[in-house]
Amino acid sequence: LKLLTPGPLSTADAVRAAMTVDRGSRDAEFLALTAEVRRGLLAVAGANAAYAAVPLQGSGTFAVEAAIGTLVPREGRLLVLVNGAYGRRMVQIARRIGVPVDALEVPETTPIRADALAGRPTHVAMVHCETTTGIENPLAAVAAACREAGAALIVDAMSSFGALPIEAARQGLLAVVASANKCLEGAPGVSFVVARRDALLAAEGRCHSVALDLHEQLAGFERDGQWRFTPPTHVVAALAEALRRLDAEGVDGRRDRYRQNLRVLVDGLRARGFRTLLAEDVQAPIIATFLAPTEGWYGFDAFHAGLRARGFVIYPGKTTAADTFRIGVIGDVTPRDLAALLGAVDAVVAELR
Ligand SMILES: *Cc1c(COP(=O)(O)O)cnc(C)c1O
Repeated sequence: LKLLTPGPLSTADAVRAAMTVDRGSRDAEFLALTAEVRRGLLAVAGANAAYAAVPLQGSGTFAVEAAIGTLVPREGRLLVLVNGAYGRRMVQIARRIGVPVDALEVPETTPIRADALAGRPTHVAMVHCETTTGIENPLAAVAAACREAGAALIVDAMSSFGALPIEAARQGLLAVVASANKCLEGAPGVSFVVARRDALLAAEGRCHSVALDLHEQLAGFERDGQWRFTPPTHVVAALAEALRRLDAEGVDGRRDRYRQNLRVLVDGLRARGFRTLLAEDVQAPIIATFLAPTEGWYGFDAFHAGLRARGFVIYPGKTTAADTFRIGVIGDVTPRDLAALLGAVDAVVAELR
């Protein structure tokens, strides 16, 4: 089965094999794995010694909530640049925590605007690749605007980390948030925040949540190398292996593979009469959104089930405006797999017609 979704996604045999061993959470071997993962995450984020990588138990949203709760002072003001569901989720999180927040929203098919940092925010948050549609938002331009305006930038890089370049130190980012099970091609269950060390150290007692407190989580790692609470040991071991594989492939190599996947997918489905939601120049090589065919044969559930029976899992749409479906090109997936998907699409369409 190939998971052509935004995560969890298809992983390599070696990544799954890393999970077949039980490890004690206080074992020297596991502590070494944790340290290796934290170093690896810093490198992928383009961070330096001014930053710390803080892994956290839980899915990506846990780390987003931890970052906002730990890093934004309640006397600050957060501006979230929104063009999809994950941007809206950050607004919802800030409201729930009691962080003063404004949203600057543009349509889902348009990149967020980098030029208008309205309301003098102390902090800005953006989604790098808005997985709602697969659009790539202009990280470098927003980072430059934030440096200019003296605002600290938090990046939800959940679906781009490991495939699109991020230069935390050079771009002066406050924090980068992501999880193991997207472009890192690890297993779900652990997320992380790579953030400026000074900001983490200054955040003592601020977080609204004990479990999500990144100041305390970092203090735990720096005290004795251990996780504060039970770590997902199997998932951490898988992430260590996944990071070794990323190191071998390179972020650029991974992006190129995903680009080739996307090319095969989009060209193939266009040749079959499907249309993409996004314009080519804003499409990230992560996940593509297609407009639902309007002919009578199409229904998402039947289309999905037909592809599932042939070994491929696709995803429903998430846009507010249009009826769509999505197909991811990330994970342990090659252009060959996408070519095989096209054959399956032909068979399913013929069957449903
Ligand atoms: C997947 C994703 C998240 C987190 O989702 P979880 O289901 O909590 O892992 C957040 N932001 C973006 C952009 C994502 O793609």
